[in-house]
Amino acid sequence: MNISTEKTAGWANYPRIVAAVARPENRDELADYLHHTGQCIARGNGKSYGDASLAPNMVSMLGFRKILEFDREKGEIDCEAGVLLADILPLIVPAGWFFYVTPGIKAITIGGAIASDVHGKNHPVAGCFSNWLISFELMRADGEVLTCSRSENAGLFWQTCGGMGWTGIILSARFRLRRISSVHLRQKTVEAGDFEALWRAFEENGHWPYAAGWVDGLSPRHRGVALFAEHLESDAPDMPLRYEVPTPKNIPFYAPSGLLNPLSTRIHNYFYHRKNKSGERLADLESYFYPLDRTLNWNRLYGRRGFVQYQFCLPENAAYDGLIRVLDAIRAHRQAPFLTVLKKHGERPPEAVHSFPVKGWSLALDFPRTGGLPALVRRLDDIVRASAGKIYLTKDACSAPDLGRIDPAAFGEEKFWSLLKGRILSGG
Ligand SMILES: Cc1cc2nc3c(=O)[nH]c(=O)nc-3n(C[C@H](O)[C@H](O)[C@H](O)COP(=O)(O)OP(=O)(O)OC[C@H]3O[C@@H](n4cnc5c(N)ncnc54)[C@H](O)[C@@H]3O)c2cc1C
Repeated sequence: MNISTEKTAGWANYPRIVAAVARPENRDELADYLHHTGQCIARGNGKSYGDASLAPNMVSMLGFRKILEFDREKGEIDCEAGVLLADILPLIVPAGWFFYVTPGIKAITIGGAIASDVHGKNHPVAGCFSNWLISFELMRADGEVLTCSRSENAGLFWQTCGGMGWTGIILSARFRLRRISSVHLRQKTVEAGDFEALWRAFEENGHWPYAAGWVDGLSPRHRGVALFAEHLESDAPDMPLRYEVPTPKNIPFYAPSGLLNPLSTRIHNYFYHRKNKSGERLADLESYFYPLDRTLNWNRLYGRRGFVQYQFCLPENAAYDGLIRVLDAIRAHRQAPFLTVLKKHGERPPEAVHSFPVKGWSLALDFPRTGGLPALVRRLDDIVRASAGKIYLTKDACSAPDLGRIDPAAFGEEKFWSLLKGRILSGG
């Protein structure tokens, strides 16, 4: 089995560590590796932003990349954990199926989707990835393989969904798909001059299954844009659907650090707001669900210093005031979030103890790593804590440890672990 020492990071290129990365090709190699290695963590495709998939010993699961079964009648997929959503789409879309839940990127593995229990723009109606998960196989530290579902090893099933890889290594999974009869969606855009209008747009358009908002983190009134969408019904539902992926652009080099600064962000926000005028239009699956995938390696725009994505979720009763306080704090600290995504969340099953969303609202904010960022993160942590909110661990790199960290001891599998938090706060 190949094991190499590499400088590695998550999607945000911070933190960056030197790690021994093992690349097992089959279960025997993986079991052997676990037997001989101390603490380690599984790595999918490394698209979590912060330190979720980082540890001195990392196990890449990209060697487990077989689709084992696609039941076209029932709409079920059985595949190995290293299969990407992007591997599955060309198979299922022409047959009239899509994911119930997809994050805003398709280059993630099924193992990563389960371990983060990812959500999409339709959480109030579809929940998280675990809502549609039937079962998975999990290799524990001693090499034993357990099948986990709602009826078999149910405790371990729920601890693993959103458990950030700390219960063991997911080998394969079976999950449900949803029917579609068109590759198009109807999309409605609502411009909002301030945060109150943005909030109102969500309330008034609550019947759309998909919803996400953009907030201008630099505008004093927190203006924004809300995008709503629904799948179109096709006139010819029995025809195979055409799944096309436009050739992506690539950012070949790291940009100079500082390219994304308050001025360039202000210019970007101006054009983004101008481009997104209120109205309705047709969108396709790619442009609606995966707009960022049209530019490969866009994370390099933040330069070698990398960036931090801060995503938090506040419960319904505290959300409006908490979000305003967060947006005001960003302006007061003179930080400029380049990307922002606002989402509304619904109930989650009580067993899904580690799933990130709670009934309420989440906001994701991408900040270039600057000297002033640690102080802002501390301030945002305080607001999230005071609002009884949560941090999304799959994005996190530097929040206070008390905000939603998982205690590995709770799993009785202390072999699997991630880096300790708090590096930039302590200046490391
Ligand atoms: C542009 C972009 C948009 C995104 N949008 C969203 C979004 O809308 N909603 C959302 O929820 N997330 C979103 N994400 C986050 C992303 O979906 C998650 O971080 C996902 O877990 C990444 O999967 P991965 O395969 O790259 O896993 P990695 O980043 O490699 O690992 C993520 C976690 O999963 C664990 N893990 C991976 N494979 C296994 C395995 N086989 N067994 C056990 N544990 C494993 C790792 O240990 C780690 O804790 C986005 C990320 C990007 C870059």
